[in-house]
Order: sequence, then structure tokens, then C-alpha cells
Amino acid sequence: MNTKLDPWSSSDITDYSKLFEEFGISPFENLLPEIPSPHMYMRRKIIFGHRDYEQIAEAMRTGAPFSVMDGFMPSGKVHLGHKMVMDQIIWHQEMGASAFVGIADREAYSVRGFSWQKCREIGVEEYILSLIAFGFKPDGLIYFQSGCGSVKDLAFELGAKVNFSELSAIYGFSGETGLSHMLSVATQAADILQPQLEEYGRPKPVVVPVGPDQDPHLRLTRGLASKMNMFRVEERETEKEGWKYLSIRGKGAPKVALQELKKRIPGKVKLYEEHIDILQNPDYPFLTRLGSEIRQAEKRDYFLAEIEEVSRFMNEISPYELVGYEEYFVFRKIWKLTRKLLEEIVIEVALEFGGYAFIPPASTYHRFMSGLQGGKMSSSVPESQIALTDDPKEGAKKVKKAKTGGCVTLEEQKKLGGKPEECSVFELMLFHLIDDDNELLEIRQECVSGTRMCGSCKQLAAEKMHDFLKDHQEKRELAREHLDEYRIIYKN
Ligand code: SF4
Repeated sequence: MNTKLDPWSSSDITDYSKLFEEFGISPFENLLPEIPSPHMYMRRKIIFGHRDYEQIAEAMRTGAPFSVMDGFMPSGKVHLGHKMVMDQIIWHQEMGASAFVGIADREAYSVRGFSWQKCREIGVEEYILSLIAFGFKPDGLIYFQSGCGSVKDLAFELGAKVNFSELSAIYGFSGETGLSHMLSVATQAADILQPQLEEYGRPKPVVVPVGPDQDPHLRLTRGLASKMNMFRVEERETEKEGWKYLSIRGKGAPKVALQELKKRIPGKVKLYEEHIDILQNPDYPFLTRLGSEIRQAEKRDYFLAEIEEVSRFMNEISPYELVGYEEYFVFRKIWKLTRKLLEEIVIEVALEFGGYAFIPPASTYHRFMSGLQGGKMSSSVPESQIALTDDPKEGAKKVKKAKTGGCVTLEEQKKLGGKPEECSVFELMLFHLIDDDNELLEIRQECVSGTRMCGSCKQLAAEKMHDFLKDHQEKRELAREHLDEYRIIYKN
């Protein structure tokens, strides 16, 4: 059975590996060495997947501009699940991202039937205060969708590129679905693309940290980004020989823009009515498939000549650094650099001629926490989750009543050990309460070896939860006093 992802119902996704195959989400683990000081959720494999996060990791390493964007539907109490998203927004902000947080009041209005006033109250009281209390910096932008003209205008434009059948295939919309609900989906896509609008600087990589249930929004937005763009850089193959080449497609782009592109692209290009094919000459190394033929000595000369050309434009790699490397590596490097170079040129020209040049948004996917009693966390069952505004004593009580992975009797526990992977208390420590990896590892080892008992373990977690909530709520009150120092766009 296919995995169903639905942003508006609480999904129960037990087999995350299926998402890799079904939706093309890549495992996050392989990327870990490329990330400077990875976040705790990354180290602990709570973030398990991504799309295109390589570009974000590269921006963090090189200091290039990038953004983090996320949204919260003001629908109820802010809880630990929201904290996970807020933690990731703030971490990316600390790593150099410009941050955008949308309060999805259009979604709450259309899906939940909430009034604008109620959306504003919940948005500020629950989400914005906690976000600031966790450390969101004032240079980030917080906005209510209904008050943000640029998002609303872009949503309308995006609406021209998507029809009911597509929305129905992605979200399961039917004839009963309200028009506002459909509009709220276009608004979310606009939220995600907004950081790349001209008023916020050039198009840049944007990451959206989400749970896997939100992936439909990402898939829709990535598709829309390329549909909106004036040009697309594509990798293609010649029909007969199967040689690879790069092509820039510009369906509907003004002819003058295509001609301008041709002027700026180094190397061999061929201009058609609506697109440009690059490096058409069959003797040219880019056209050569990887394989024995690229190992010929004369091909190598082409490579080096091309590196010189590319490096001159990219200004980031010396051809001599690469001499002596395997041709395969050289080939990949040139291909990557050429593509990057073309994308840069395409962005410049598209912007000059009034078009869009969105980079498809990247995303990360984190595991969901289970409910405190086991099963799913649900806002309709207050005992299953801890709200960030719960009285600290209540929060501690909930931890003490949580389901553990311990044995029925002390004797059994000593003999067989506990199962931290089935324990809600351990999960709380893993996700939120213990920062030190070594301390957590020790707790785990003691648990499985039967030297740790659930009573004292719960007591420790309950105390930590009490202190965390107390501290967070004090910071929320401080945040309230400093609200006007933040860039917040409200509905007029
Ligand atoms: S000892 Fe702690 S971690 Fe282990 S099962 Fe009991 S409560 Fe969970």
C-alpha cells in the first residue's frame, strides 16, 4: 500500500524508509559530514531525510546567502512538535540564514473556519511568543499571510500555473473542497518562494524544515518554482548516441532574453526559437558519456581547456589544482561547475527581463514524536502531548504518567533491561530534555543493561520538563515585552 501524506490530518508514518523510494526524499545521514556543527536533531537521526539540502550545506560552508522558511497554522496550543520546527528555524538563522516565518492564518480561516481575530490571538499568544522565547533573532521576518501583500500577489500568480486536477492528485481535493482551501495551498507555495523575491535580494537556496506530512506542499512548490521560471537548465541526452548535453529551455521567454543569454554563455551554443542547447559539437567532452572514451589523452586536453574557461568565469577553482585527478572526477566537476555557471547567467538574464528565477526549495524531514501514552500525539487528547504553555507542575505530572519501555516488575527489568526505543520518556529526553549526547548514551546503556529503573528515570525527566517549561514561560513573558522590536506584519 502506498504511503499517504496529508498535511491536514495527523499522519502515522511508521516506515520512514518508504518515503525515500516513494517520494524521492534522500537519506540525511550521508550529508552529515558536510554540515558544520550539525544540529542535535541531525546528529541523533531525528532529521532523517532531505531534498536538495546539499545547496544549504554548501551555503553554510561558504558563507553564501541562504534562507530558512517555515509556517505555523494558528490552530491551537503550541507544543513540543512546534518546538522542533522552531529549534530548526533558529539554528539555521544562527548558521547565517535569513529567516522567514509565516503564520498561516489563511489556512486556519479556510480549513478550520477561524476568524481573523482568533487567528491573530493564537498566532501571537501561542506561536510568536514561543518562537522569540527560543531565540528567534529580530532581523528575521514574521508575518501573517493575510497581511503580506507580496505573498498574496505571488499566490495569485502561482494559481495560474496549477489546476484542480493537479491539486486533487497531490492533496486528494474533491468537488467538496472550498475555493479558499485551494487558495491557501497556493499561499503556502508563495510563503516558501517569498524569500527569493526581488525585495529580499537575489534568488537563493531556501530550506523548509518539516515533518513528512508536509511534503505535499514541498512537491507542489518545487514544481511551481520551475513552471514560474523564465528559463530552465536541463540535462539532456542526444537521441542517437545518448551523449549528454545541457540545454536551457525558455518557453514563452522573450526572444531578446534568449539572444542576451546566448551572448553571455561561454563555449559552444546553439540558439533555437525557444531554447538554447549548449556544447553541441560531438567532439566536445561534455557530450561524451562517462566511459572508456573519456580516458583518451586528447580528451583530457579538452577537459583542462574547459576547466580554464569555467574557472575564469566561476573564479573559484584553479585548473592546476585538478591536474592528476581521475578524469571521472574532472568530468563531474566541470559538469557541475558549468551547470552552476549557466544557472547564474540564467538568473541574471531572467531578472533583467522581468522574469522569475526561483531555485527549487530544499527541505528536511524529521521524525514525529509519539504520544505520551504511546500511539499518536493528538491535540484532541491533551494527555498525549505537552503544550509549551502547560503549567510546569502539570507538564511534570504528564511525564510521570507517560508510557515507558520498562518491564512489569523490577526483577524483570534488572534481568532483561528496558526498551528505550519504545519509551516515551526516553523520547522526550532524546528530542528535548538532554543536550549532551554522552549523557543520553549513558542513560540508554543503563536502560538496556537493566541498571536503570523507570521510577527514578521518570523522576529525572519530570524534573527536567518542569524546569524547561518554567524557564520557557519566563522567556515568553520577556518576549511579550520586546514584541515591538521584531519585524512582524499583521493583517491590517
Ligand atoms: S529506564 Fe528510563 S529509558 Fe528505560 S524504559 Fe524506563 S523510563 Fe524508559
